[in-house]
Order: sequence, then C-alpha cells, then structure tokens
Amino acid sequence: MARPLLLVVDRDLDALARTEGELARRFGADFRVRGESDSTVALEQLRLAAERRDPVALVLADPWLPGVGGAELLRSVRTLHPDAARALLVPWGAWADRRTADEILRGMSHGDIDYYVLEPWSSPDELFCRTVSEFVQVWSRTVENRRREVVVVGAARDPRGHAVRSLLTRNGIPHAYLDRGTPEAVAVLRSVEAPEPTSEDGPLVIWLAALGGRVLLDPTDVEICRAWGIGTDLGGDGAHGGEDEVRDVDLLVVGAGPAGLAAAVYGSSEGLSVVCVEEQALGGQAGTSSLIRNYLGFSRGLSGAELAQRGFQQAWVFGARFVLTRRVTAVQPDAPPDGAGVPRFRATVSDVGEVRARAVLLATGVAYRRLGVPALEALSGSGVYYGANVSEAHGLAGAHTVIVGGGNSAGQAALHLQRYAAVVAIVVRTPDL
Ligand SMILES: Cc1cc2nc3c(=O)[nH]c(=O)nc-3n(C[C@H](O)[C@H](O)[C@H](O)COP(=O)(O)OP(=O)(O)OC[C@H]3O[C@@H](n4cnc5c(N)ncnc54)[C@H](O)[C@@H]3O)c2cc1C
Repeated sequence: MARPLLLVVDRDLDALARTEGELARRFGADFRVRGESDSTVALEQLRLAAERRDPVALVLADPWLPGVGGAELLRSVRTLHPDAARALLVPWGAWADRRTADEILRGMSHGDIDYYVLEPWSSPDELFCRTVSEFVQVWSRTVENRRREVVVVGAARDPRGHAVRSLLTRNGIPHAYLDRGTPEAVAVLRSVEAPEPTSEDGPLVIWLAALGGRVLLDPTDVEICRAWGIGTDLGGDGAHGGEDEVRDVDLLVVGAGPAGLAAAVYGSSEGLSVVCVEEQALGGQAGTSSLIRNYLGFSRGLSGAELAQRGFQQAWVFGARFVLTRRVTAVQPDAPPDGAGVPRFRATVSDVGEVRARAVLLATGVAYRRLGVPALEALSGSGVYYGANVSEAHGLAGAHTVIVGGGNSAGQAALHLQRYAAVVAIVVRTPDL
C-alpha cells in the first residue's frame, strides 16, 4: 500500500515551498508529501487517490485559492477521504483579518474543516510540526488495518464482538477488529495458534500484541480490563498501595463520566485518597462522542474517549484508584471508627465487597432510554446499536443507516456516520430536530 499522503495546497509559491519542505523534512520518512498551487489539480489527485484507495492523512489548504476555494476543497475531502484531517493553512496574523476569521469559523461550524494551521514561519518550526503531528496521530487511530496494540478477531456482526469493541474504544484501548474468515483474521489466528483459525464462528480472540503477545479466548470484560492493566478489584491495581487503602478511603466516586473523572482529579490533587468505581467504561456518555468541541482548553476538539483517557491519566498520576466493570449497589451510613467523630459511609461494590469512605460523590449521570421494540432489542449489537457511532462507524461503510432521535447526539452521529455510510436517515417523532 502507498504511504499515506500529506497534501498542501497554496497559491503563494514561496509559502507552498516552505510548508512542503517542512513537512518533507519532519514527516517524509513515513508519508508522501505533495504540494500543489492549483486546487483543481489537487482535487483530481485526491479523487485518484480515493479510486486507488490510497490513504490520505492530512490536507492543508489556503483559504483563498482561485477557482475551488480552500474550504470547498476540504469539504470534498470529507467525502473522498473521511478519515483525513483537514485544515485551512493561514499566515501568521491572519486571525486579525475578519474575512479569514469568518472563513475559519464558517468552515468549522459546517464541519468542512477540523481547524486551522499557521504556516511554518521558520525552519524547524516546532509549533507547525506539533500541530501536524497531532492531526496525524488522530488520523492514525482511524486506520483499520494498521498494526495495532490489540487485535480482536470475532464473528462479523457478533453482539459480543460489538460489546468488546465498544469497551475497548470507550476505555481508550487502541485496537483493530478483524472479522473471522477474512484473510487478515486467518493470518492472525494462525500466528497466535488460536483454535479454529479458518472458521467464521469460532471463539472471540483477543491478541494483546503490545503486551507480550498474550492471547485471550472468549474473555469477560473483567478479564479484558485486567489484562490491559486496568483495576477491577478493590485490592488495588498493583501500582498504588495495598488492599486496606482501597477499602477505606476519604472519597468514593461512583461513576467515571466527566463529572466522576473531574471529582477524582480534584479530590486526589487535594491529597485525598480516592477510589472511583465505574460500571461500564471511562468517560460515561461522553466516551461515545466522536467530537467534543466545547470542553475548556481543547479548541480543536477531541473525541470523548480521548477526553476520558486524559482525565483518567490525570487522576491516576495524582494517585486516584479506579475499579472498572463494577457497580456500586448500595450506600449506607457507617458508624465512625471510634464511635464519635465524623460519620462515614459504607458502599457495596458488585462482586468485590465493601468500601468505607468519609464522603461519597454520586456521579452516576444518565443511561440511554431503550426503544423497547422487541424485534429491535433482539438485534442489539448486531445491526442495532446504542450510542455507538464511534466504535461502529467503519463497520457501517457503504451501509444504509437510520438514526433514531432528534437531539444533539443524533445530529452528531449523523455528521459522523455520513462520512462512511451510503445513506444516513434520521427518524424523529417531533416536527423538528
Ligand atoms: C453522543 C454524545 C455526544 C455528546 N457530546 C457532547 C458535547 O460535544 N459537549 C457536551 O458538553 N456534552 C456532550 N454530551 C453530553 C455529555 O457527554 C454529558 O453531559 C456528560 O457525559 C455527563 O457527565 P456525567 O459524568 O455527569 O454522567 P455520565 O457521562 O452519564 O457518566 C455516568 C457514569 O456513571 C456510571 N454509573 C452509573 N451508575 C453507576 C453505579 N451504580 N456504579 C458504578 N458506575 C455507575 C455510568 O456507567 C457512567 O459511566 C454528549 C453526549 C452523548 C451521548
């Protein structure tokens, strides 16, 4: 397969040469770097690449290209190469130019561009290279057949396969999912000596390629998290303290959505001993979001899974402990140890026992209301998905899809899925969105 393309389109030939040179110097070993001054020629190249299925990682475009303008060119890239990052390339100081600012704001609000990039001004230009690296890193996570840290092989449209994919995606575990029976899946199963390598219906196999090559057969969620080193017990995750510490803490946080993660960060950063129990996955609802643009400090936006990972890492380095795949089923007052002093709480955590805490913070958020149509419930995980537009998007390439609901999440899912699916229809019971 051809090396992924980094394409820059700029009518200013000096600026074009500078940007192309900077890209080639820093990224030339792994990417094809091309510069074009004519947007029609650039568009033709992008069409050809799409026909040949050559990967495109990033397109940078001058907003004021004659003919097909920068934002228009990048709008076409969105459908030709759904995974490619797209940014307007502007000179330093352009933010003060109202026309350019309007073009950036319009491009972002219409979803034509991901962001804007300042032209390299000196060489090496570390700010420019860092911005491009970040785009390329996000793009690399979307490439299905890239060598992955974790490889899952399961039957196509298998509900358990969907559940595992969702668990891995939402917990920020980089992975590839291969359908059983495909040549790639057979090769992986043979290489790890898994049973029934050529069958389309054998066990679900997880190959932890980056973690010593361990192989799991039909694992439970608990086994998957443990194998990846995520805590699932009150006995601690092996990195912080012993069992007593986790069973007797200052603060118990129930739920690891954005609210629970924030509580874990601020509690532990103030020196409290914190344990955070999460039933499903880090990030809660936000973990299913393809792009969050309104979180303070992330002007370019980031996926919900990425946000959750960052929150988790931040809490972890302050010493907070996490217990995943467990549910807090009861919280009750507990007598203080010496019969006087500050009252405490005792919480029951499913399958692993009790935690005592001076304070309990309930960050349990909300759960999806299900449709309750028996015929659809039966297909849950194999064609009918709840909030899975990120983990399932690639698998829906070329498919006809229907989104049920008319709120923000439905709109976001439609925008994300239209990059892959042949048809996206929204069914909404009210007259408007
Ligand atoms: C697809 C989508 C896109 C979104 N995009 C945006 C956006 O762009 N910008 C924005 O501001 N908001 C967005 N939102 C909304 C945002 O995600 C929510 O407002 C936010 O996640 C609420 O955070 P929370 O921590 O309060 O609750 P939740 O995210 O609901 O998390 C609660 C967590 O608690 C866990 N839990 C519940 N009960 C228990 C229990 N008994 N024991 C253990 N764990 C338990 C759940 O499993 C869950 O993980 C989006 C939501 C969705 C679904």
